[in-house]
Amino acid sequence: MEYLDDVSFSDAVNLWYKDIHYLASIADTKRRRSVGDVVTFVSNFNINYTNVCTYRCPLCAFYREPTDPDAYFMSIEDILRKVAEAVSLGVTELHIVGGMIPELTVEYFEVMFREIKRRWPWLTIKALTATEIAYIAKVNKMSIREVLERLKDAGLDAMPGGGAEILNHDVMKVIAPAKDPDEWLRVMEEAHKLGIRTNATMLYGHIEKPEHIIEHLFKIRRLQEKTGGFLTFILLKFKPWNTELYRKGLVNDEAPAPYDAKVVALSRIVLDGFINNISVYWVGYGKKYASALLAYGGSDLVGTAYSEKIFRSAKPHEGYATLDELAHYARTAERIPAQRDTFFNILRYL
Ligand code: SF4
Repeated sequence: MEYLDDVSFSDAVNLWYKDIHYLASIADTKRRRSVGDVVTFVSNFNINYTNVCTYRCPLCAFYREPTDPDAYFMSIEDILRKVAEAVSLGVTELHIVGGMIPELTVEYFEVMFREIKRRWPWLTIKALTATEIAYIAKVNKMSIREVLERLKDAGLDAMPGGGAEILNHDVMKVIAPAKDPDEWLRVMEEAHKLGIRTNATMLYGHIEKPEHIIEHLFKIRRLQEKTGGFLTFILLKFKPWNTELYRKGLVNDEAPAPYDAKVVALSRIVLDGFINNISVYWVGYGKKYASALLAYGGSDLVGTAYSEKIFRSAKPHEGYATLDELAHYARTAERIPAQRDTFFNILRYL
């Protein structure tokens, strides 16, 4: 079969216009060859320390103005109460992200991470997107490296992949003008150099064109070739509701199913051999549909996502998924379910 080995940029552009069944067969073969039939997921709990954000991205339904009645900023005690709830659910990973506000001192996160580790040393802290790290560096007048070193020292184990959106300046100017695609890559490179493993994401289904998707995939692939620091590539399906992009009529609906399938397949085809875990985040698709998309090269469903709020701000979803449910949906796809840790070590088969 063609395209089973390394795929060039122009191969990827050509492939975009091929029949989806053809793409599926290449993607599925590559997936089987590199990770086998196991579908992984982690038991994780989301904590959003604030929903106030000065970046006001047109793509975002989550952020609030400081004066909004439902605006909040969590104290360390609030955070620890949430972590205790997470622990009672048996999670292994905390996913901690929030908004960009000047109150974000390095000390706030240092105290947060140290206290979490002191009380629950076995928990993995996966926290702060590249966007947040860059912002914290700016408001604290520190280098990105210094921020990362201090937070790693305080207990930061890994970083989520959010904030990448689509790594193209023209697209970013419209969907999230306060963010800089080059900065996202720089922070990730710095984190990887310090031994902090991270995820990578792609938020698609808004104003992007196929060439932007491919550009994004190759930027991620090139950085992975350099650092090897990415753990997985997570597909995030954009939900337009309650966003400025929707209010302005720039995006009126979600991406259609054939587009989702093509994006998942292309991600596997381009990244396979560089990043072998391709995650279909069920929160963006619904559990059943995410399970169907595993046939297009997906090998991971991300996690239980207890207490997920960001996607829910745009559109209500199924809440959370138990490990048994995720195992059920992996089996529905005729695959072998396995609970993993943040670093993709298998903890147990279900
Ligand atoms: S996407 Fe992130 S940076 Fe942008 S407004 Fe929402 S919370 Fe802020």
